[in-house]
Amino acid sequence: MEQERIVETGKEERSLNFIEQIVEKDLAEGKNNGRIQTRFPPEPNGYLHIGHVKAICMDFGIAEKYNGVCNLRFDDTNPVKEDVEYVDSIRNDIHWLGFRWGQIYYASDYFQQLYDLAIRFIKEGKAYVDEQTAEQIAAQKGTPTEAGVASPYRDRPVEENLRLFQAMQNGEIEDGRMVLRAKIDMANPNMHFRDPIMYRIITTHPHHRTGRTWNVYPMYDFAHGQSDYFEGVTHSICTLEFVVHRPLYDWFIDQFADSDYRPHQYEFNRLNITYTVMSKRKMLQLVKEGLVAGWDDPRMPTVCGLRRRGYSARAIRAFIDKIGYTKVEGMIDLGLLEHTVREDLKETAPRVCAIFDPVKLVLTNYEGAGETIVAENIDGKPELGTREMPFGRELYIERGDFQEEGDKNFYRLSPGGREVRLKAAYIIQATGCDKDADGRVTTVYATYDPQSKSGTEGGNRKTKSTINWVACDACIEAEARLYDRLFAVENPSAEEGDFRELLNPDSLHVVTCKVEQALKKEMQPLPVNDGVAEQHHYQFLKQGYFVVDPDTTSDKLVFNRTASLKDNWQK
Ligand code: ATP
Ligand code: MG
Repeated sequence: MEQERIVETGKEERSLNFIEQIVEKDLAEGKNNGRIQTRFPPEPNGYLHIGHVKAICMDFGIAEKYNGVCNLRFDDTNPVKEDVEYVDSIRNDIHWLGFRWGQIYYASDYFQQLYDLAIRFIKEGKAYVDEQTAEQIAAQKGTPTEAGVASPYRDRPVEENLRLFQAMQNGEIEDGRMVLRAKIDMANPNMHFRDPIMYRIITTHPHHRTGRTWNVYPMYDFAHGQSDYFEGVTHSICTLEFVVHRPLYDWFIDQFADSDYRPHQYEFNRLNITYTVMSKRKMLQLVKEGLVAGWDDPRMPTVCGLRRRGYSARAIRAFIDKIGYTKVEGMIDLGLLEHTVREDLKETAPRVCAIFDPVKLVLTNYEGAGETIVAENIDGKPELGTREMPFGRELYIERGDFQEEGDKNFYRLSPGGREVRLKAAYIIQATGCDKDADGRVTTVYATYDPQSKSGTEGGNRKTKSTINWVACDACIEAEARLYDRLFAVENPSAEEGDFRELLNPDSLHVVTCKVEQALKKEMQPLPVNDGVAEQHHYQFLKQGYFVVDPDTTSDKLVFNRTASLKDNWQK
């Protein structure tokens, strides 16, 4: 069901998504004087993944489309997990995706304001310091149908709360010994109203921006809506798990707002993709334990991983456009993502020969020397340029393209008269082969027809098949990293037990291949633009889409397989 709808919205002229409809209605009604302001609020505790891109396309997309502004706000309220490394990578990735923010803000910019606000809450009898353990507090929460139990500290005097909260901030209280809680309603059917925690103590880690200034840090619910309010956000868009937080988001703001202006929260469905995980926490675990090569391992669903895998920003954004936004959680088929990158590369990636399981082919009647074939990068698209392929008497072809005993259904090389074309070059006919003691073919022999060269009059003669080749004395060895899905099961997050045991043991094969000499130009460090290595894409004929990996040096050529050619996606 979900997927049928997705293909619908992938059409060129898609209808408005439900958030755009809300925005248009607000504009029509003149809300906020026609001002549109969104924000993208990542916590800098990991690298961005493709799920974040869905939020980015929404937040920045709304601002772009309706002449508004989207600010980047780092939600940096937990110094234990956050780091500038993540701040920098998030900025780079958003830029690379092609979005521009208005301002950069940090929740930590508001620590003083939020602290002052907390004091105001205490003074108004709306907050208290609780000395119970996290377990005790959890045990008293009750259930949605059963009221919670009030903390014994709930009614302590304002003066005592002020003194203790100050002591918390002064570093006089150990981490975990006290929290500041909002005093709302322990019987509210919405569990988030049962005296939510506003502040906790963290003294173990300095904050990456405020250092040791603070010993108390605001919780998400107390920081997020307030930050939106301070900045003037009009549409605060997030994912569905926050629906249940929305009443509390509104409540906190109502307690102190001194105007009619209110930011409003709207929620859409998270992106989940089969055979992967979409959680920074789990990704961090994979990175830390060396189960992948890093955040930018090409098997990772991170933006930097997809980039290294060869996904362009355009392909990633086209994918997000295809899946659309709804209010129902679902799971997207990995096949759709792969389909989208193939569509993107099909028309643009130059096509070259790469031989993965080479066997030598000798053209016994070839006498030429120094001949070069000029081949189009994509057949029939001269505007995409040409390249030179050195030709010769000795070539490498794929082992699988030759059969000594070919049957009538084998259309490639086999002794017995069938004609086969060498890609962009001549027509040949196999005459025989040499084998080693184990019966394995070591050399294939063939004759070529000098009148059959592609691009000449004789080049129009049709053959049943075309095979790839490189010249033995003019090809380059390259390392090819062949990737497959990261997990062996469709939904690793839904399985019981340790998700790391569900990793696909065959997700990476490293092989060597022989590529055309034209790729020699790639044997140098990849140029870096805007903090990010360029992507140099190719289609290896009959093999797949490949991209030059940043591990490439002047001595070593390394490719990542972006996607195989075979598309299993069902429209
Ligand atoms: P994670 O669980 O991976 O850490 P998060 O939601 O905690 O994700 P944040 O950095 O807090 O990550 O998220 C920033 C924004 O990105 C939020 O608005 C969040 O709703 C959105 N977002 C995160 N993951 C997804 C996803 N899978 N699909 C769509 N939006 C997402
Ligand atoms: Mg988070």
